[in-house]
Amino acid sequence: MIHAMFVEIIESLCGETMKKKIILACTKCFNRNYTTNKNQATSPERLTMKKFCKHCNEHVEHRETK
Ligand SMILES: [Zn+2]
Repeated sequence: MIHAMFVEIIESLCGETMKKKIILACTKCFNRNYTTNKNQATSPERLTMKKFCKHCNEHVEHRETK
């Protein structure tokens, strides 16, 4: 009973630490427009998202940057 609770707590803590804050930059003007969290374990590859860029005034592909 107590052991099961302990496992649950550890799993939730590990889940949090695997989440990494990333910045999404416009691939056209290179402005860093968005921040998001991603799970490093489930998506280790570089993230790309089509989002609105207020500098380009259009929807542009945004790529994960450091
Ligand atoms: Zn842009």
